[in-house]
Amino acid sequence: MPLVVNEVFFSIQGEGTRAGRPCVFVRLTGCPLRCHWCDTAYAFYEGRRREVDDVVAEVDAFPARLLTLTGGEPLAQPDAFPLVTRLADRGFEVLVETSGHVSIERLDPRAVAILDVKAPGSGEAERMHPDNLDRLRPQDEVKLVLADRADYEWARELVRDPRLRGATVLLSPVHGRLDPGALGRWILEDALPVRLQIQLHKVLWPGVERGV
Ligand code: SF4
Repeated sequence: MPLVVNEVFFSIQGEGTRAGRPCVFVRLTGCPLRCHWCDTAYAFYEGRRREVDDVVAEVDAFPARLLTLTGGEPLAQPDAFPLVTRLADRGFEVLVETSGHVSIERLDPRAVAILDVKAPGSGEAERMHPDNLDRLRPQDEVKLVLADRADYEWARELVRDPRLRGATVLLSPVHGRLDPGALGRWILEDALPVRLQIQLHKVLWPGVERGV
């Protein structure tokens, strides 16, 4: 079954522990969730059907070996799993940005899952696959996107969950809704063992929504 691909582009990775590095992005079409603050709604439906071989050939031509598979919810397409394996075989360091709605059990062990655990303010906090926090591997990262103080307090509790012990946890304010400085102060007040994350691509190219 072919993939449905929204866009392929070369940019600066704006999130996670690899922020700042040149990176190839493959954005797949479709998402079963509807987060209130979603900034990629254009990927819900727009896209074109492409074979895995075709996508691998295109990304191989970019001058970077860091690749992010994103969406939408990329793992909602079954062929995302063999795509990740093909890319890892080609020597790519593959990051998979996922809402956690689909089990990461079949994800190639060489890939890094960036598990975007949905906070209550997203409106989609109940959509996480029940096993995914138990399936986190040492290289995976947990991202919590927070819209307000209530979301922060939810995150503060989650950080104490034993399933997250040792994991890199990134707290990211919803762009334009939660002041990053306020979030930083809350983290300091609680001495929370997390990383504050600002979406670097939105600082570099404000107002640009696609291809970054
Ligand atoms: S999971 Fe991601 S793509 Fe889907 S609605 Fe939420 S923010 Fe948007």
